[in-house]
Amino acid sequence: MQHEKVVIIGSGPAGLTAALYTARANLDPLVITGEQIGGQVSITHEVENYPGFPEGIGGPELVENMRKQAERFGARILYDVVTEVNLAGGRPFRVKTYGGEYEADAVILTVGATPRKLGVPGETEFTGRGVSYCGTCDGFFFRGKDIVVVGGGDSAMEEGTFLTKFADKVEVIHRRDELRAGHTLQQRAFNNSKMGFIWDTVIEEIRGDDTVNAVRLHNLKTGDVYEHPTEGVFIFIGHDPNNALFEGQLAMDEKGYLVVDKHMMTSVPGVFAAGEIMDPIYRQVASSVGQGTQAAMSCERWLADQEDEATTEAAAPA
Ligand code: NAP
Repeated sequence: MQHEKVVIIGSGPAGLTAALYTARANLDPLVITGEQIGGQVSITHEVENYPGFPEGIGGPELVENMRKQAERFGARILYDVVTEVNLAGGRPFRVKTYGGEYEADAVILTVGATPRKLGVPGETEFTGRGVSYCGTCDGFFFRGKDIVVVGGGDSAMEEGTFLTKFADKVEVIHRRDELRAGHTLQQRAFNNSKMGFIWDTVIEEIRGDDTVNAVRLHNLKTGDVYEHPTEGVFIFIGHDPNNALFEGQLAMDEKGYLVVDKHMMTSVPGVFAAGEIMDPIYRQVASSVGQGTQAAMSCERWLADQEDEATTEAAAPA
């Protein structure tokens, strides 16, 4: 089994920042990327609110820059997926991937979150055939088509507006009569002539033949149920933390996010967390970068304390 000082699981902004900081602290971190380096940012068309890029920067380019910067100081990037961890058993922590097995003196978890599903008939069946959770990935296929976007948050407005570059019409279906999204994104959506809004309404079913051709809608105020023709359904209704690996090992809140203390340490000493796996509120590239920094600095200090303790114990008279 390969021994590591620090293993970082996940390679979004939190993970790559933790890699940069632990690398610069000479901890020689190993980053295990997960299915896609960069996580959700790598499928974000444009990041407009990360400081330092006044014109915005493409998500994949930002990830690439972060990767290069971490590698420049010695971080090692392993393109593999973690299948099992043993954290509750204490040090050394054990991490199993498809390709190998590692033990680590400390672990930083930055595994992020996954888009939430609507859970209606037709959703699974038509995923990839009209149902999508990523405008950047799939928008191109809806050139000249009429589509719907589900959700009233920042993601729905941002992605919906982006999708008007391709689609002829983007109808936002929202379960209430006001949006949750921030003012700027709301105004941009309201001012876009290709966008429309269907309020107080939920999708009950996604229908089609080979691909989607309609959704059955239910107006929650009037009780009306009717069919709305559409060729695409883009779903942006929030995220769930990717916590499956840690169930029964680390403390989580009622929504499944990892609980950390002010040093970003989880309920197991030596295991730290940053980014969307522990943050249900801010969920920004900038906040994930900050949390990754904090986790890495805490990790470095914690490891130094462990070494000091070990040295003191060794020097103590028997
Ligand atoms: P969100 O803020 O949680 O919004 C989810 C939206 O989906 C809400 O409007 C919610 O309705 C709706 N929804 C939830 N479950 C639903 C269901 N089962 N059926 C129908 N509708 C449902 O999620 P988000 O938009 O992904 O944003 C998450 C976080 O990331 C936020 O903090 C946001 O500020 C941030 N973010 C920021 C940016 C940016 O700054 N550029 C971009 C994207 C995301 P209700 O409103 O009725 O609850």
